[in-house]
Amino acid sequence: MSSAEEFEARLRDLLGHLDLPAKIRLLTGADAWALPAEPAIGLRRLVMTDGPAGARGSHFDERDPSAHTPNPTALAASWDRELVRRIGLLLAGETGAKGAQVLLAPTINLHRSPLGGRHFECFSEDPLLTAEIGLAYVRGVQEGGVAACAKHFVANDSEDQRFTLSVEVAERALRELYLAPFETLVRAGGVKVVMAAYNAVRGSTMTEHRALQVGVLKEEWGFTGPIVSDWTAARSTAPTANGGLDLVMPGPDGPWGEKLEAAVRAGEVPEAEIDDKVLRLLRLAAATGVLDGFPAPEPEAAYPVGSAAQTELLREAAARGMVLLRNENLLPLAPDTRIALIGPNAANTATRGGGSADLSPRREVSFAAGLGLPATEGVRPGGRQPLIDLADCVDPVTGESGFQVEYRDADGDLLGSEHRATARLAWLGLPEEQWRRDDLRVIMRTSYRPRVAGTHTFGVTGLGPTSLTVNGQRIIEPVTSGWHSLVDSFDNITEQLGAVVLSDVDTPVELVVEHRPIAAKHGYLRCGITHRAPGRDAEEELAEAVRQAEAAEVAVVVVGTNADLESESHDRTTLALPPGQDELIHRVAAANPRTVVVVNAGSPVLMPWAEEVAAVLYAWFPGQEAGHALADVLYGRAEPGGRLPTTFPRTAEQAPVLDTTPADGVLRYEEGILIGYRAYDQHRLDPAFCFGHGLGYTTWEYRSAECPTGVSAATLHAGQPIPVRVTLTNTGTRPGREVVQVYLGRHASRYPRPPRVLAGFAVVDAAPGETVAVEIPLAPRAFCVYDEQRRDWLPEHGSYLAEIGRSSRDLPLAAVVTVH
Ligand code: BGC
Repeated sequence: MSSAEEFEARLRDLLGHLDLPAKIRLLTGADAWALPAEPAIGLRRLVMTDGPAGARGSHFDERDPSAHTPNPTALAASWDRELVRRIGLLLAGETGAKGAQVLLAPTINLHRSPLGGRHFECFSEDPLLTAEIGLAYVRGVQEGGVAACAKHFVANDSEDQRFTLSVEVAERALRELYLAPFETLVRAGGVKVVMAAYNAVRGSTMTEHRALQVGVLKEEWGFTGPIVSDWTAARSTAPTANGGLDLVMPGPDGPWGEKLEAAVRAGEVPEAEIDDKVLRLLRLAAATGVLDGFPAPEPEAAYPVGSAAQTELLREAAARGMVLLRNENLLPLAPDTRIALIGPNAANTATRGGGSADLSPRREVSFAAGLGLPATEGVRPGGRQPLIDLADCVDPVTGESGFQVEYRDADGDLLGSEHRATARLAWLGLPEEQWRRDDLRVIMRTSYRPRVAGTHTFGVTGLGPTSLTVNGQRIIEPVTSGWHSLVDSFDNITEQLGAVVLSDVDTPVELVVEHRPIAAKHGYLRCGITHRAPGRDAEEELAEAVRQAEAAEVAVVVVGTNADLESESHDRTTLALPPGQDELIHRVAAANPRTVVVVNAGSPVLMPWAEEVAAVLYAWFPGQEAGHALADVLYGRAEPGGRLPTTFPRTAEQAPVLDTTPADGVLRYEEGILIGYRAYDQHRLDPAFCFGHGLGYTTWEYRSAECPTGVSAATLHAGQPIPVRVTLTNTGTRPGREVVQVYLGRHASRYPRPPRVLAGFAVVDAAPGETVAVEIPLAPRAFCVYDEQRRDWLPEHGSYLAEIGRSSRDLPLAAVVTVH
């Protein structure tokens, strides 16, 4: 017996010790994040945690913070597999430290529309770049002894009506675009878990989709791990069980349990299906060290939690993802440059997007802090007000910075209290048992010392009615808000505002937030307090920004979105920057021609001012080391290593897909295979910045490309890559790094094809004057078409043009490859 056979035999033996109810019990969460233990077979709890930008753990709590990476699009913008693998290793260490075995990441849906609410959480518009970066991420996580989870399977590329929408997509587009990254992560990456999406595809909700879950994922690709439902996505009993879903999350309630047992006894679900699900779970448990008798992974701690090695990697990754879109001889800056730092995101830096990518970061270095400069807002940030500054808040009981939080019942009797160093409380399904009650009241108290006199605007956010009193005067009344599903309500919390005049800066005032958490019984809570101090009116603020810009050598203007505007459960409604930001840039640029715009957003925004300013740097949501990474790039201590993983439209109308609202519940992918640069190239559109674009601080000359002139269709069909050898020289005066990109096109085809598709890429480093050669393997699939009639990938015979260069629109070298 081979060791693989022996492994399977041992799992089957364990399965044999379980009766039907015991087996079924294992398939639904014991709580919001963990699967149940089964001591009878030596199975311990198996814990999962979000998410792509850090391992949050089962609690959202500042007392147990997480390392916080750049957002996934920023990681993909590095095009750097090795860097992303190291990020995966770091995340594995963090996941383990949170007591979890599964990291619910990466998100490998595609940038179909730039308005997609989770655009920031996905890698790219291109399936190959998504697959390659996703593969590196999975390899890092799994080398670190943790299971990665590829999500959300499949066609979960926008958020509006995400629980109910049904995607209509042609088979070829589904295969070549949306399924392709999942296929790579399963076949080449051995990803251990896949998450079934909320949406339906062609009328069948994904958790019930037997053709895709069993037919494609399990049978065709050989996936041997479990498919876990997205949280609350499983809404039926027999159809999900027969449709290939293996695990229902969260628990302990759900559509399986006794209902599934009854369905099996009634013959609606074969018991063999249940056995298969349990075996898949046991494979995962055995691989992640929670099954007795199977050795736990013992990875080397490459990036110990909270270590300097972590901080350095997070700083490096943030800088490597930053994309220098434009640079008219302004960057890098000399160290002694007199800078005016302006803009709403300069001090209120958005380090991450919202939704399940949210977490309690170990630290957050704002751009202003990283540059060591004071900032003038110029215009207010988009979205909600910023959270109240804890530095101005003193817990009246402990005297520490923060809040005293009391938990009371409906009669006002105290159930418990604690000090919290946060202005935002959140429970994600796992508070202490005693807080799970219908009549819970949460009271947050602080002694707030105003820094300036005048009208202060406070805000409260809460999942349930929330009020605020200031020195006993109620300035925000509780509002009962409508609520549909728990998951969406959690991410769509509105802010209620109230204003009060505070005239004495020496006398603290008492702030009391009273909140009735309507989902406390289910273990969910969100409650926070925001604040805006009195300041200049909008015109004066803008005028001050202009004055600062005039007086400085260089103006650095930081604009962007934030986690309120980019989050799951809703798509964006506009590609424009939040109100006033374009105007701010126009005015600053007119005042100082040496203006750098830094965009702090997870997804593309329109940049109508791009040609008015000397430099534009896209910083994405850079994670905890945002400010240090920005300083490194602006002063040239690091190359801006990023290249666009997605096309930036010049106008909203240019975007190949703009409308993400389903019509009668159906979202038609009418554009077929033409998303992203494929569409811009096909329709000869001139985007603001093309796919693959990004400048460095040196110059390059592409010298030569060599590839086999002929390859056999059989080689391609067998999945063998075709090597291209590219030689290039760093012709500048600084060391540099370049992302060499190879695109493949074919003019005379039996099938409609976009002019070119990305077929391979590599990152090279070179010293000034150095010539380097790099071998880039071209993906065999780039030569193939998925033929819908034959249900297979077909390499077409004939010649293909390989174009090589630094972006999808700057391709100085070419070579012909003939398939015979
Ligand atoms: C998201 C998933 C996430 C899960 C658990 C869902 O709402 O779609 O990506 O992993 O919640 O938080």
